[in-house]
Amino acid sequence: MIVRARTVVTMDGPPIDNGAVVIREHQILDVGRFDEIKTHNAGEIVDLGEQALLPGLINAHCHLDYTCLRSKIPPQKSFADWIRAINAEKAKLSAEDYVRSIREGFAEAKRFGTTGVANLTAFPELVSQISSPIRTWWFAELIDVRAPERASEIVDHALELLEPMQNWGLAPHALFTASADLYRRCEKVAQHKDIPLTTHLAESREEMQMFRDASGPLYEFLKSIERPINDCGNGTPLGLFLSATGDRALPRWIVAHLNELMESDFELLERSKTRFHVVHSPRSHDYFKHSQFSFERLRSLGFNICLGTDSLASNENLSLFAEMRAFQREFPGVSPEEILKMITVNPATALHQENMMGRIRPGFCADLIAVPCGDRGGPFEQILGFDRSIAWMLLNGKM
Ligand SMILES: [Zn+2]
Repeated sequence: MIVRARTVVTMDGPPIDNGAVVIREHQILDVGRFDEIKTHNAGEIVDLGEQALLPGLINAHCHLDYTCLRSKIPPQKSFADWIRAINAEKAKLSAEDYVRSIREGFAEAKRFGTTGVANLTAFPELVSQISSPIRTWWFAELIDVRAPERASEIVDHALELLEPMQNWGLAPHALFTASADLYRRCEKVAQHKDIPLTTHLAESREEMQMFRDASGPLYEFLKSIERPINDCGNGTPLGLFLSATGDRALPRWIVAHLNELMESDFELLERSKTRFHVVHSPRSHDYFKHSQFSFERLRSLGFNICLGTDSLASNENLSLFAEMRAFQREFPGVSPEEILKMITVNPATALHQENMMGRIRPGFCADLIAVPCGDRGGPFEQILGFDRSIAWMLLNGKM
């Protein structure tokens, strides 16, 4: 099959006007100018007309479990109050509700042009009941705050449930809910099984207050549920994360948030030679009114920065187009092309799929979407402005 479009945005060099992509089965075979492509390729021609053809989008941080919590939780006074509020909502849900919620989330993400997702689930036992319609990295979200002595058992159980999946990983939830043992155990498994890891880190001011000062609403809340607090009052979340994890394992980590960083944290990052990946969720960030995300500083230190939607308990929909626009409002100096990288090339790298996904290049997976593209403005600007459902998508070579 030869797919022709007004512009092919390959993310692998400049956009190709009057471009075409050759697909065989689930792979991209060739890409270039339509007049050249058609002279040395046979096959059915699909002409998309006045559209930009681009790689399918990849959501680097998402919790489809909570799709059904859209608009259920208004912004709260404190992050600890928000945790209490989501726990109260979760208590009303059954396993069937979660399965429905995850399925609805997949359908919505796909409508918005997402072909790949790093999805954290607190219910790995439900995963076998769901056939995901897009490429999914299932991350088991792990918490041992009420039973730190069971860290290994918790990891092993998740492992058993997720190993049959094609793509999976482990997600110790956060430093305040997962023990250092749990983090270390996840890293061991990751090294052994060659899987990615993800966690929430330095998200809120309260998390900083908890670990640096041993005070604040999150500290008080966790103390009240009898979390051991001997790791509080000694350092920053990032400092603790770096000392809890091994330097060699850092490239496996996809770190969500990283909003709260002190000067001493930047010094640590400068000294550390290995880099993890970072996910920023602009609209969830707005909802919580977190501290400004240090995009420029992290970028200049060489971090691979991706965008994610987070869950609908703190966002209004699963559109990565809307996420790009929110990022652009926050950082108007960043080019639309660089922003599009954050939901294509960069998350593919974070998931160790840089040779398979995120670009239109021969040998890559045939995950493509099309967005209307006319005379007004450049293709990247028009892609960022797109605010409807995707009308044409190819996933693993299939329409
Ligand atoms: Zn999250």
